[in-house]
Amino acid sequence: MPAQALIVCEHCDTVHRRVELAPGAAARCHTCGGPLYHRSRLELNAMLALTIAGIIVFAVANAYPLVTLSSQGIRNEAALWQMVASAWNSHIALVAAIAALTVFFFPLLQLALYAYILLPLSLHRVPRGFAAAMHLLRQLRPWSMVEVFLIGVLVTIIKIGSLADVVLQPGIWSFGVLTALLTALAGFDTRELWQAADEAQR
Ligand SMILES: [Zn+2]
Repeated sequence: MPAQALIVCEHCDTVHRRVELAPGAAARCHTCGGPLYHRSRLELNAMLALTIAGIIVFAVANAYPLVTLSSQGIRNEAALWQMVASAWNSHIALVAAIAALTVFFFPLLQLALYAYILLPLSLHRVPRGFAAAMHLLRQLRPWSMVEVFLIGVLVTIIKIGSLADVVLQPGIWSFGVLTALLTALAGFDTRELWQAADEAQR
């Protein structure tokens, strides 16, 4: 048995085996009734907070240009959708479609699904079609590639930096924050959500 599976009561030294707790539940000592350990509901709330922050940052990332380029008196702003449109017009429609899907639609759908699942769960309700939404969320995860896009943009900026003056705009910082938020969300164990749904149904 691994050592972390055991816990010693601080008050009477009775040794206990750790068991999985429901969110919000606490384990007490068999012998003296003293508190041993507990599990908070924090994870669900943290995920919801990250989702709401993600939706706000997503809006900002798409509302502002990523960079402005100026060369010989000509100034150009580049936002995500301008890049997609210019790829489309340059007859690299596949690139435009992949960028639009992986940087815009999939992350947006992912955030919308998180909100759809987490808002009712935080109120102890199970959203309609919970299992299907969870399934779709799992399938979407690998296809949301904001970070790949961000690296691509940064590499491009470094390459054209010698040809034009590049100024980073709020859009690119927002995509950076969005990447961090989505990564943090993906780090949570989704079993937590299944369990919360299970408890809400009881
Ligand atoms: Zn005890």
